[in-house]
Amino acid sequence: MNCPARITLDAAQLAFFNELPAQAPSVQSELGCELERGHEGSHAALGQQVEATMWWVQWTLSASEINPYTWCPEHRVPDAPSRDDKDCTLFDGHPGKHSAAKLYWHSEAA
Ligand SMILES: [Zn+2]
Ligand SMILES: [Zn+2]
Repeated sequence: MNCPARITLDAAQLAFFNELPAQAPSVQSELGCELERGHEGSHAALGQQVEATMWWVQWTLSASEINPYTWCPEHRVPDAPSRDDKDCTLFDGHPGKHSAAKLYWHSEAA
């Protein structure tokens, strides 16, 4: 189950994302944490991906920031039901369990 925390990006954060050279649609102003429920550390939501760099919004009750990461290198068990389910979709070094439930980043490997 996902962490229920959500964040609303401020104008400066939205402007940062809009200035990235990304092909993807613009970032939503409200994002939900993508980590495991009950995780330690900051909440995290993927804002935008530019080539190999993922820009994650990370926040706590008192502060938020945007940081660049690469993909978590973890692969799920070899008998995953489909090839799209086998790679962790979180950032390298994330807290909590790996997650492969969201597949929106995988389009280039069809
Ligand atoms: Zn969270
Ligand atoms: Zn992972």
